[in-house]
Amino acid sequence: MTKYIFVTGGVTSSLGKGIIAASLAKLLQARGFKVTIQKFDPYINIDPGTLNPYEHGECYVTEDGAETDLDLGHYERFLNVSTSQANNVTTGRIYKYVIEQERAGAYLGKTVQVIPHITDEIKRRMQLLGQSGEYDIVITELGGTVGDIESLPFIEAVRQLRWELGNNDSLVIHLTLVPYLAAAGELKTKPTQHSVKTLLEYGVQPDILVCRTEHKLNQEIRKKLALFCNVNVNAVVESIDASTIYDVPLLMLKEQLDKTVLTKLKLSTKHEPDLENWKTFLGRLKNPTTEVNIGLVGKYIELPDAYKSISEAFIHAGSTNETKVKVKFIAAESIDSKNVAEKLRGLDGVLVAPGFGARGLEGKLSTIKYVRENKIPFFGICLGMQCAVIEFGRNVLNLNGANSYEMDADTPYPVINLMEEQKNITDMGGTMRLGAYDCDVKKGTKAFAIYGKAKISERHRHRYEFNNAYLKDYEKAGMIASGVNPKTGLVEIIELKDHPFFIAGQFHPELKSTVANPHPLFVSFVAAALTHKKSATK
Ligand code: GLN
Repeated sequence: MTKYIFVTGGVTSSLGKGIIAASLAKLLQARGFKVTIQKFDPYINIDPGTLNPYEHGECYVTEDGAETDLDLGHYERFLNVSTSQANNVTTGRIYKYVIEQERAGAYLGKTVQVIPHITDEIKRRMQLLGQSGEYDIVITELGGTVGDIESLPFIEAVRQLRWELGNNDSLVIHLTLVPYLAAAGELKTKPTQHSVKTLLEYGVQPDILVCRTEHKLNQEIRKKLALFCNVNVNAVVESIDASTIYDVPLLMLKEQLDKTVLTKLKLSTKHEPDLENWKTFLGRLKNPTTEVNIGLVGKYIELPDAYKSISEAFIHAGSTNETKVKVKFIAAESIDSKNVAEKLRGLDGVLVAPGFGARGLEGKLSTIKYVRENKIPFFGICLGMQCAVIEFGRNVLNLNGANSYEMDADTPYPVINLMEEQKNITDMGGTMRLGAYDCDVKKGTKAFAIYGKAKISERHRHRYEFNNAYLKDYEKAGMIASGVNPKTGLVEIIELKDHPFFIAGQFHPELKSTVANPHPLFVSFVAAALTHKKSATK
């Protein structure tokens, strides 16, 4: 019998529901339970795939090619378990399904309504993963804040499910804010009282309160919250600001969130949480012996969430290298051929980020030319790889005006071309090359040395590809395809022979980096940056 935990949010957005859900899942997993997390988002887009990163942060891609909320990245990084299409559901997806059913005549002449038809569909989806029999516990995070109009059907579905499943098999955790009023010198419980009241109006009594706070909650505050919100005192959990999100599982352990959950769900623990590897990771993260400066050149740099998985992958790789990785975000448009040396000064390595569209292209090309010629470690991801190919075409192969078809449909040298399978696609949503594909890594290349194997699989999200008509010329000049898709021949990894570290992938390695398995490309890139730094200081 699968147990269900629902996580709601109150008072404000951005409280970190995803981190709390992932931390709780980590603790339960460390106790031997099989856990998954899913996110239900109240917006009407079918998925975040068509959203500008400024709207919604990074779009995370799963193995099976779902374009999802970035919280799924946290789930995977914490649990080291893959998520899938079923782990992220939006209002749009629910309504689309119900309306298609209606058109197909499935409702037999009935009026189709939010209750029961929409809520039934929400409940069905909430239980899909649970019914697979793969999990002991399913944690469902509800996006948005309690009281939002758009999240009402989700809360109503939770109310109904709680009633159907009963108290021993489900519980609700409400994440809330306990603000500190500096002028009064006090923590305030009123916003939490109000948001729990709102939940109660909808018929949902939370079982556990997780309180985000800048200051410790004393016993008096805990008692007050318990009394006003009808929960046990030990179900008032402090979630104090942490210096890294990777501290949160241990903070929740200290607050016994996992124990409280198990008691309420009438589950007996399999063993005490085994967090040895996690603690080793944290120990290295917090006690670096050295540091490196990495530049991240991209076009969405005002919003660090747009590159969430890349930032986290650097944290994982930093821990492995016992190195503090300082990532400096640099706006691609601010770079040109004249100021590039100035812009990249002091950097031990440069990553050119994924992206779409022509804005900032010339800055990226100037960056790549500079790091290629000056033998500074370079790592390109997706558009970053495509830019490396364009730069090499223009400046080494003298293909004047070489470009990606995405940026210039009239380029005389389309070294990056629209993929064959993309040519007849007109819809934007969910139509890129998405999800995991196999890649053969050539023996004797740097990529092979880094991965240590010939068969890998990485996740993709793109429409354009290396144009194989130019491959021979590129390889002759020293840029080789060290990774190729075995079925289609698509170039997946390029590297330079005569450069200490110049590697780029058409895929997104950052999506597979976890605490348990830091991604080898990031680990090696950081190591290369360290080597570069040492030789530069000499
Ligand atoms: N815009 C490029 C493409 O669609 C790269 C995409 C990306 O960087 N994710 O192929």
